[in-house]
Amino acid sequence: MMLTIEAISTPALTPATDLGYLLHKNPAGVQRFEMSFGVAHVFYPVAQAERCRVCVLVEVDPVGLVRGRGDWSLDQYVNDRPYAASSLLSVAMNTLFSTAMNGRSKERPQLVAEPLPLRASVAVVPMQGEAFVRRLFEPLGYAVGIDRPPLDASLDWGPAPTGVLTLEHTLPVKDLLRHLYVLMPVLDNDKHYWVGKDEVDKLLARAADWLPTHPEKETIAARYLKNQRRLTREALGRLMPDEVGDAEETERLRDAEEAAIEKPLSLNSQRIGAVMAAIKASNAASVLDLGCGEGNLLRELVKEKQFSRIVGVDVAIRALERASERLRLDRLGDAQRTRIELMHGSLMYRDQRLVGFDAAACVEVIEHLDEPRLRAFERAVFEFARPGAVVITTPNAEYNSVWETLPAGRYRHRDHRFEWTRAQFRAWAQRVAGEFGYAVRFLPVGPVDESLGSPTQMGIFER
Ligand code: SAH
Repeated sequence: MMLTIEAISTPALTPATDLGYLLHKNPAGVQRFEMSFGVAHVFYPVAQAERCRVCVLVEVDPVGLVRGRGDWSLDQYVNDRPYAASSLLSVAMNTLFSTAMNGRSKERPQLVAEPLPLRASVAVVPMQGEAFVRRLFEPLGYAVGIDRPPLDASLDWGPAPTGVLTLEHTLPVKDLLRHLYVLMPVLDNDKHYWVGKDEVDKLLARAADWLPTHPEKETIAARYLKNQRRLTREALGRLMPDEVGDAEETERLRDAEEAAIEKPLSLNSQRIGAVMAAIKASNAASVLDLGCGEGNLLRELVKEKQFSRIVGVDVAIRALERASERLRLDRLGDAQRTRIELMHGSLMYRDQRLVGFDAAACVEVIEHLDEPRLRAFERAVFEFARPGAVVITTPNAEYNSVWETLPAGRYRHRDHRFEWTRAQFRAWAQRVAGEFGYAVRFLPVGPVDESLGSPTQMGIFER
């Protein structure tokens, strides 16, 4: 990841290379700093009287980052850590620029508080939504530029999940550094070191003069402090001592914290939670997971004593193998082994093995079936297997416009054959329920948008 800051000469900043005095980094050479997670380099590709540009290149060793932590998973080795700006950039800034951020310059003290025309760029930042990036920086007065090249120009995959952020503003260097220091981990929302009480102190030291008036202050504090409610409340309380007694404000803080927490709580786990609740409520003892994939739902089902027989079905052998590994089926004792079973099969065909269950879940599967063949699915499930209850989830196409990363008219998943609006799903579900003697009701899953509904829609069919 790379941070670039460029200053152009003004009457106060003459020559522009005086930027080096503000940063306490000499423009003449390349400097290298060892970090616990890699190396940071500071160098000046441009150092002239009129223009001065400093680069901070942070090289992260993603393997070194997890070494000795014991928990192993592939995504700790294959991830965006080396190139996407994150809390690690802030850690590096703390080492490189703490004097500058504290507003001290031995050689040019008069420049510390001087607003200077600055341009910063960060390559690259995670883009959960461009609007969110703007909401963080624009209230601070920055002209925000976001450059999101396509993920692969030769393929129709849409824009990359990261982009180059440029910020332009006339302000003291220390302010620019402090803003970046606090907001990079907020954009990343995934701090890679322990967040303790001293993080509250660091946040206050770097943000006490600008955060209290920032419209996103609650989200910023919550995400900076890794969504730890107690720390967030403490930080906001110390930032705005007059306001904490105010009940309405406290309520607002809670909502914002919750919003900040729910964002990273993936839709997937919300969906599994909603389906689990519906199945448990049906009082089922035997359950089918139709199109179980790699076993996300099965893993939750096995935890519940209520279920004495659990069967996952999928057409993809590879998915079943993964499910078997994740559930450690080969290591189960005899009692457990009769309780859970994986079956290879297609939901398009009548299958005697699937008859006689109390409930069935079919989570994010129907949209993978060719629409003309849905009829075969309906008959195989509702007419032939005929579980007591059937819980079906599918994307709500209307909600897609909320996700800025999803180009208009594009499906969420490349294998989706269709994505239905709420009206389309209801019409289909009501017709199926009526035809096969079920009653159906609908519940939203995920955050509900007033006009667009929720990202996932769920239909609960009961005989
Ligand atoms: N329910 C899982 C997986 C959803 S992905 C989860 O929520 O994580 C859709 C799954 O449906 C895939 O695993 C795919 O292999 C399976 N699938 C697609 N067509 C199928 C069919 N005709 N019969 C059975 N499974 C099918």
